[in-house]
Amino acid sequence: MQFSKLAESYERLEGVSSRLKMIELLTGTLKESGAGEISKIVYMTQGTLLPPFEGIEFGVAEKMAQEAIAVATGFTKGQVEREYKKSGDLGLTAQKLRSESKLKSMRQSSNTVSEVYDTMMRVAKTSGPGSKEAKIKMLANMFASSTPLEAKYIARYPLGQLRLGVGDATILEALSSMATGGRGAKAELEAAYNICSDLGTIAETLVSGGMPAITAMHVSIFKPIRPALAERLPTAEEILERMNGIAAVEHKYDGFRLQVHKSGKKIRLFSRRLEDVTEMFPDIIEATLNEVHEEKIIFEGEAIAYNEATKEFLPFQETIQRKRKHGIKEKVEELPLHLFAFDLMYLGNKDWLREPYKRRREELERILAKGKRILPTTKIITSSPKALETFFEEAIAEGLEGIMTKDLEAPYIAGARKFSWIKLKRSYKGELSDTVDLVIVGYFLGRGGRAEFKFGGLLGAVYNQKRDMFETISRIGSGFTEKQMVELKELLDKIKVKSKPARVDAIVEPDFWVYPKYVVTVMADEITKSPTHTCGRERQEDGTDVGYALRFPRLVGETAIRQDKSAEEATTTKEIIEMYGEQKKVGVKGS
Ligand code: ATP
Repeated sequence: MQFSKLAESYERLEGVSSRLKMIELLTGTLKESGAGEISKIVYMTQGTLLPPFEGIEFGVAEKMAQEAIAVATGFTKGQVEREYKKSGDLGLTAQKLRSESKLKSMRQSSNTVSEVYDTMMRVAKTSGPGSKEAKIKMLANMFASSTPLEAKYIARYPLGQLRLGVGDATILEALSSMATGGRGAKAELEAAYNICSDLGTIAETLVSGGMPAITAMHVSIFKPIRPALAERLPTAEEILERMNGIAAVEHKYDGFRLQVHKSGKKIRLFSRRLEDVTEMFPDIIEATLNEVHEEKIIFEGEAIAYNEATKEFLPFQETIQRKRKHGIKEKVEELPLHLFAFDLMYLGNKDWLREPYKRRREELERILAKGKRILPTTKIITSSPKALETFFEEAIAEGLEGIMTKDLEAPYIAGARKFSWIKLKRSYKGELSDTVDLVIVGYFLGRGGRAEFKFGGLLGAVYNQKRDMFETISRIGSGFTEKQMVELKELLDKIKVKSKPARVDAIVEPDFWVYPKYVVTVMADEITKSPTHTCGRERQEDGTDVGYALRFPRLVGETAIRQDKSAEEATTTKEIIEMYGEQKKVGVKGS
């Protein structure tokens, strides 16, 4: 496929205001892609070169892209920068300056998608001395041989600013529509995605082997599995009731979730977002080599600094901060991390996901029986609410976050939030039982004292999985430090869009829309019903439409943005409705 064709379809995608239209456009593009090309188109549309777990980064800074535009168009660096300041979008800058280029066009033949992708891959892989100049040269060549519209996307792609608003579920639905003409294959495609986390591979497999090849896919080492997630309930009774009367109850550690993949002496570690974080944890690698003797295994746990002498857990934020300050090596010696393992997904040559929890856990405990740094989470099995509560209180007293209960009979449900895992946390006293994670979909300008920051708050949304849409739930105007306001404004300015993105459902109009990318954690007093927000919005008997909103929302956390969550991993509409139900029950009890 010619890159010009893809650029045209991106431009149309950017302009659509309905999700269905988006799927239709995307399906059309995917259908037209040739063999070996569909994965490249999928990755490009996601704004990446490969799935995040491959750890490939473009390594292109804004200044480099600006310089490449200058080289390719004959404008000075100053001119490019001024133009960029005006539009705030390097894509538009590239498009404009390419069309007004002062140089004779070097365009001999047009680029294919593969040529653009392969060049971007070379840009990403170029490192070491002289790499900056080499990257600028490659980018400049691409700009010089592109049309203005192509230049727009060539500039945005390596900067992570495509602004297409296409999510994983959107791509899966387009693939399903390509295969069956509708949503019929979506569940199977999603199941395959949940065990390999690689949409490009899914697309290639679909093209080469059809749906039978998709359903035959299985877990493999070094391809991370999308994590199982937990639901929440406020009391021991309700939790046990949901678990059919008996459950395993584990300590809940506030650490860093790690998925460990081991084959012989080769080990890779993946974060909750499935990024390769192997380099960050040499101590966990060493401990795995020393203590886990299975040849091939995938297991999961929470890494946390634990002082064996004082039996104290260190808040993970602190560990990470100190790690940064003193460098990884010193930190390892001073404060080795422990990995509290809680699940087993693969062993020998066998996929363990379908085994019931009790079998997986038994095997995990056998494997880690002699573990010192890598050990199973502390757990009990109980059918008594009283025992569950006592275990919870003890966990809190030890400085932990709470507990995780697990259904003894349930498989490992990759990539989904189900009641087979239920969490109970400390942060609960009449207030909302937990914080919520909201996607920023827009922001407001500052007024009064905030005017100097040109930032007056965020428009936050939750994710409705069923609709694959972001529904607004709150305006967030407090809890920000001055530094956070400046940082947020800078980040959001880079992802501004002209009109409401197709996958955002909103009644409130912010001063600026941004495409759904960043997640923030918010605390609120309660969830209320509201006519101004679209979260869970439903027609009432009196004919009015009412959704859910947060009362007294405030930003929490030192760093404003949650780096470990993508837009689709924000709190869901379903969770908000459940939390509202729980809140009502608690309210009744307390009154
Ligand atoms: P989530 O990960 O569910 O989206 P979150 O990031 O806000 O939500 P929490 O609500 O704190 O996190 O709880 C879930 C996380 O708890 C898991 O993702 C995992 O990292 C961590 N965790 C700690 N101990 C355990 C345990 N024993 N079993 C499973 N997960 C655990």
